[in-house]
Amino acid sequence: MKHYLEKQEDKSIRSILYFSMEIGLDEKIHTYSGGLGVLAGDTIKTFADLIVPVVAITLVSRKGYFEQQLRSGQQTEQYLEWHPEKLMKLMPEKIVINLEGRDVVVQAWEYKVKGIKGFEVPVYFLDTNLPENNPEDQRLTDHLYGGDSRYRIKQEAILGIGGVRMIDALGYRKIRKYHMNEGHSAFLTLELLRETDTEGEQDPYKKYDVQAVKDKCVFTTHTPVPAGHDQFHKDDVNQILGNFIDPEFLKDFFFDDKLNMTLLALSNSEYINGVAQKHTEVSKSMFPGYAISSITNGVHSNTWTSDEFKKLYDTHMPGWREDPYNLRYALSISRKEIWDAHLAVKKKMVDYVNSITKAGFNYETLTLGFARRSTPYKRADLIFHDINKLLEIHNNIGKIQIVMAGKAHPKDGGGKDLIKRIFDISKELDGKIKVVYLENYDMQMAKIIISGVDVWMNTPRRPLEASGTSGMKAAHNGVPHFSILDGWWIEGHVENVTGWSIGRKAKKGSNSDELISDEQDAEDLYLKLGEVLVPMFYDNWDKWTEIMRHSIAFNASFFNTHRMVHQYVLNSYFH
Ligand SMILES: *Cc1c(COP(=O)(O)O)cnc(C)c1O
Repeated sequence: MKHYLEKQEDKSIRSILYFSMEIGLDEKIHTYSGGLGVLAGDTIKTFADLIVPVVAITLVSRKGYFEQQLRSGQQTEQYLEWHPEKLMKLMPEKIVINLEGRDVVVQAWEYKVKGIKGFEVPVYFLDTNLPENNPEDQRLTDHLYGGDSRYRIKQEAILGIGGVRMIDALGYRKIRKYHMNEGHSAFLTLELLRETDTEGEQDPYKKYDVQAVKDKCVFTTHTPVPAGHDQFHKDDVNQILGNFIDPEFLKDFFFDDKLNMTLLALSNSEYINGVAQKHTEVSKSMFPGYAISSITNGVHSNTWTSDEFKKLYDTHMPGWREDPYNLRYALSISRKEIWDAHLAVKKKMVDYVNSITKAGFNYETLTLGFARRSTPYKRADLIFHDINKLLEIHNNIGKIQIVMAGKAHPKDGGGKDLIKRIFDISKELDGKIKVVYLENYDMQMAKIIISGVDVWMNTPRRPLEASGTSGMKAAHNGVPHFSILDGWWIEGHVENVTGWSIGRKAKKGSNSDELISDEQDAEDLYLKLGEVLVPMFYDNWDKWTEIMRHSIAFNASFFNTHRMVHQYVLNSYFH
């Protein structure tokens, strides 16, 4: 697609419109909450690197996602306003969307993501904070995942409907594909349907050209957790959107008086995919009757590789940034060089931890890492299931230290309790095993701790982890993964080659996943930690560094957004 490079100012080359409620490009623009947003950011960076003619759209979320404070493990939230004018250009175009019978004016900030060959992908951040709007409407683009369900409907209408209108107003008139990164933007399908309205046709089922819209829409579903799928009450939807679309037609999308945004997206998209093979299977059983393909997530290699490993890769595998398939040739890097690079990254991580806590981490100890959104099904506390067993390993086999982090959604009481519990456990351990739970996990912290630990962990309750991406970031830094077989790890795991599994593998297509208890998983975790990981780390350098090297060669070379975008382009955008 190189020919687009010279023509990049020509708006008519842009044929794909990518929608995401959150986009995590870097920590300065904190309009992301976690995995979904970081994936969107990594995807956009890759579009730019690979010269894919995309335009992206999101909300400005002026107050962003919250800053987390932990006092004795108790989370409090603070919303800090960020200033788009410092980083972005305000576009003069304005569009209008009618919500609750009022016209709401929307404007957009432009931010260009520049790829490795100089191609730029414009990202538009929609904003309603304009003098034309009343104070309530001015705040509609303030909070990411905040407010009540009416606030969310309005936000999603601004993203989906407003997004389509804004891109048109900005002069992009040749959009052929609309990619919904999760169902938050599914209202866009209604805007596209409305555009097909054949004037004068009364029959609500003949009025719109559903097939024409389906041909244009690509939908990626991201979670097997029911709460992750927005459902809005019929009365709220009708009252907010008014007669925007024929109510008779919309009726078909209500179930139990609720509009399910995932079903809206599924029904109006020709290409649908889950984010890992297992997740696709689970999605098919959640939504029978839809053809759901699979494209496993990845991470942006150049973003998530530490400086030390970048240097190593530049020396041994020039071209890996443009084409991360080259990471496969890590097999030819000496284990000594990989180890030395890791020690340098680990030192930075330890210094970082010691600079913000009093934990007194040291450089030699086997360091385990775990960080992600805190919510009960992710079971951050699984490793503490039986403290005595953990102490036994630590005292008799080899020392460990543990670094953790993650925010709980402000309304997720269970997630907050989990943080508190870990905090209490770490106190109870009284330094016998050093455990830190760092405050305010974000992309910058993620990069430091994921690349610097010796082992990265993930212990979700199967099959609820759709993909997970932090383990892929670890692989880019030669950090092996120790995890429950769920999400991407089912595909990336080769025992004792790329890392280690925790717990039994669920049978293909079976629903027996939930039957595996925390008890059993914890049992297996301790068994493997004590018998395999700890002894190998301290006594078998050859084997350990071989696993590090395989993590790069087998997993970083595949679980990256370049491979993922290749699949989106070939299987859905230009299909
Ligand atoms: C990568 C990343 C995530 C997602 O990690 P998972 O392993 O998918 O849970 C969340 N938050 C931040 C800040 C990240 O960088």
